[in-house]
Amino acid sequence: MKKNYRIAVLPGDGIGPEIMQEAVKVLTLVGELEGVTFTCEEGRIGGIAIDTDGTPLPEETVTLAKQADAVLLGAVGGPKWDQNPGNLRPETGLLGIRKALGLFANIRPATMHSSLVDASSLKPEVVSGVDLIVVRELTGGIYFGEKKRYDGPNGEVAEDQCIYHEAEVERIIRVGFDIARKRQKRLVSVDKANVLESSRLWRKVAERVAADYPDVELSHQLVDSCAMQLVREPKQFDVIVTENMFGDILSDQAAMLTGSIGMLSSASLAAGSFGLYEPVHGSAPDIAGKGIANPLATILSVAMMLRLSLGMDEAAAAVENAVWSVLEAGHRTGDIAADRSKAIGTIEMGQLVRDEL
Ligand code: ATP
Ligand code: MG
Repeated sequence: MKKNYRIAVLPGDGIGPEIMQEAVKVLTLVGELEGVTFTCEEGRIGGIAIDTDGTPLPEETVTLAKQADAVLLGAVGGPKWDQNPGNLRPETGLLGIRKALGLFANIRPATMHSSLVDASSLKPEVVSGVDLIVVRELTGGIYFGEKKRYDGPNGEVAEDQCIYHEAEVERIIRVGFDIARKRQKRLVSVDKANVLESSRLWRKVAERVAADYPDVELSHQLVDSCAMQLVREPKQFDVIVTENMFGDILSDQAAMLTGSIGMLSSASLAAGSFGLYEPVHGSAPDIAGKGIANPLATILSVAMMLRLSLGMDEAAAAVENAVWSVLEAGHRTGDIAADRSKAIGTIEMGQLVRDEL
């Protein structure tokens, strides 16, 4: 294991800086406990970068990220920049950095911690014990295929091409297997192979790659069936791997099983061990600057970074367990509190996690 890691920290806008501060403090403590130095270097992205650099993604930030072992990102955007033209929108910075870093795999865990079962709108017996991960392909498929609009004999026609290359499918399937191998060793590959040619290639590649992972059980589900199973019996899933559009939809669906946006972390991986880690939620302008944002999604993103980019599995589990213990003890920020009058703030929540750690 390396003893010194460079982490690019991009707090962004809205609640970004507030939640990032707590996440970095947790990371620093992990470093002290493990005898590892995390050199955190801050960069600008999103609205703040538009204001100071005139672009949502300064070249300097891209360089900083590329030189780092991993990137931690807060959130970008806010009403101040909502009317800006496309090239001056905070979200453009986010798309830009994902592209610049070659991120091709999006990883979104949905874990229902028992003490938060009440936060879900689904039945407790359905959601308690849910612990799954959706692995979504990010660079191919229908979102990136050629798009056309033209006039046909019966009015306008629209086309969206869906293309997948074998190598592109293979690398994401391998990410799915690698993650499943570290968990319950059950991988569900989701496609629409009864209808789509790209899905038939997807399934063929999944079958071929499976030979390299005899310890992992591979099964296939059609996307419509998977959508149904996710609400009917989500506990059956360990790791789901799927293409871009299906993953877009299924990862949001899976996220809502847990019912609390302030708890959801995510990773986007490039080749090798490099990755970008961020909470699923946005910049929450409505509560920015109030000190009440839930920092746990960002802290759990730090845990994902430790596991997936830095190979520090035990430290990752320690951070996750610290979060679960704090929740078990009944501490809540406003977004997950049954009784908001008893809710604690961002800094207090961060401190409790560190105390537990
Ligand atoms: P996007 O940035 O994808 O456009 P959005 O603006 O619709 O998303 P968010 O910024 O995630 O959504 O906020 C949605 C709601 O959830 C808001 O009311 C916000 O205050 C709340 N929220 C989001 N993140 C948190 C958090 N970490 N803690 C507390 N509340 C949050
Ligand atoms: Mg938003």
